[in-house]
Amino acid sequence: MTLSPPLFNRLALIGFGLIGSSIARAARAQGAAREIVATARSAETRARVAELGVVDRVVVTNAQAVAGADLVIVCVPVGACGAVAAEIGLHLAPGAIVSDVGSVKSTVIKDMAPHLPAHVHFIPAHPVAGTEHSGPDSGFAELFIDRWCILTPLEGSDAKAIERLAALWRGFGARVEIMSAEHHDLVLAITSHLPHLIAYTIVGTAEELGQVTSSEVMKFSAGGFRDFTRIAASDPTMWRDVFLANKDAVLEMLGTFNEDLSKLTRAIRRGDGEALFDHFARTRAIRRGIVELGQDSAAPDFGRPHPSLPPLLRPYAEE
Ligand code: NAP
Repeated sequence: MTLSPPLFNRLALIGFGLIGSSIARAARAQGAAREIVATARSAETRARVAELGVVDRVVVTNAQAVAGADLVIVCVPVGACGAVAAEIGLHLAPGAIVSDVGSVKSTVIKDMAPHLPAHVHFIPAHPVAGTEHSGPDSGFAELFIDRWCILTPLEGSDAKAIERLAALWRGFGARVEIMSAEHHDLVLAITSHLPHLIAYTIVGTAEELGQVTSSEVMKFSAGGFRDFTRIAASDPTMWRDVFLANKDAVLEMLGTFNEDLSKLTRAIRRGDGEALFDHFARTRAIRRGIVELGQDSAAPDFGRPHPSLPPLLRPYAEE
């Protein structure tokens, strides 16, 4: 399906990593904008974007990128969004939609909103889709297909502008949901941020184990560890920013997690098989629910084919 006529005249992308370059490719494939202008922080990335040929123009500054754009999407790490907003604020065209893709919403809104003029529509967004890869070469047009894109508009936002942005994401194959930024941050703390923290922890723990050699860890990794290593390979800058930005919600979820871990620890210590079985039966039901909702496949993960992608580029729900 292509978006005809194009939803936007000029799409400006600030930041061109996994998400920015996937948006560019999806927008190209769908004919979502008459022109796509991109910029990135480093000259190296900008040169690579020009080489890739997936946008119409590559410019040097963020201010140049947004000039005359009716849609601006900021695709940089969460901690950099405020500084980008400060740079573009004075250069935005009246009526433009300004959005982002940050994995945390309340902090991004707090950092960006003060710099944006009243004559633009600020509609924060988070596509809950990713891979562990980063950079301009890692993106692909199909990344958002069948994934959620959560919009967290501010109170009083223009309904038509929200619908226009939602139509763009639907055009990319995503399902759109609207919720408050606070609720988003709480939901993502448990569904994405805590799992990443656990993956980062467990992979680090394995590395420090004296009695198990690293070659054994690699060799037997299919026993569950392999999936953690994939998640723990996610971009360090992005994830540092996510934990700093969503501190309260993550700490709240971590508190509950620690209590539950203590309960399981006690059950193992006491040989309480019934408690362990009950817990695992409950979690198995949750997994089945996720499969039923179409957010994952029941097939074994290892070597599972994706309709259009080589195994290394298989997307997984949020990052
Ligand atoms: P990425 O592949 O690492 O790309 C990041 C881009 O931001 C690069 O163009 C980089 O420029 C630029 N950048 C980095 N630090 C910057 C700074 N301090 N100021 C200005 N630009 C800076 O990252 P990504 O995975 O696309 O993530 C981008 C955003 O999407 C993040 O907010 C993240 O939370 C969100 N997100 C990520 C995923 C995921 O799975 N990765 C999923 C959903 C949402 P250079 O290349 O020039 O260094």
